[in-house]
Amino acid sequence: MAVSGGLRHDLHGRGQRLTPQRQRVLDLFERVGAGHHLSAEDVHLQLLRADARVSLATVYRTLRLLASMALLRELELPEGSRRFELASAEQHDHHHLVCAACGRTEEFDSAQVLQAGADAAAKHGFRLLSSRLTVRGLCGACAAAV
Ligand SMILES: [Zn+2]
Ligand SMILES: [Zn+2]
Repeated sequence: MAVSGGLRHDLHGRGQRLTPQRQRVLDLFERVGAGHHLSAEDVHLQLLRADARVSLATVYRTLRLLASMALLRELELPEGSRRFELASAEQHDHHHLVCAACGRTEEFDSAQVLQAGADAAAKHGFRLLSSRLTVRGLCGACAAAV
């Protein structure tokens, strides 16, 4: 009887079990590295390229699930476009500049934004979970093309 390689699905000591499908999606994010923001379509394309037969709907479901497990973070972007990035515990809150035309996304840090969030939370008696800012604009290339 063949002994399987074992389930190596224990992640970051969370004790969460991951199906091969979910593991594949996470591996993909780990490969592209932190600071990359992938849409479901991006992930779908990569999986197809790796010969995984999977529907876009399944990719969406997997992404939402991984986000609910706090392994991925979902970016709140304008106009309903969704992107995901790797969520690591040691990664501090950062903010995003998003091009409204092409979706190019840049990250930035701001102690002032964090402080403003903390101040507002304290003032209104909120327990702070995160304060992240999304700034919309047109990137240089898109602005030049208008
Ligand atoms: Zn980011
Ligand atoms: Zn752009």
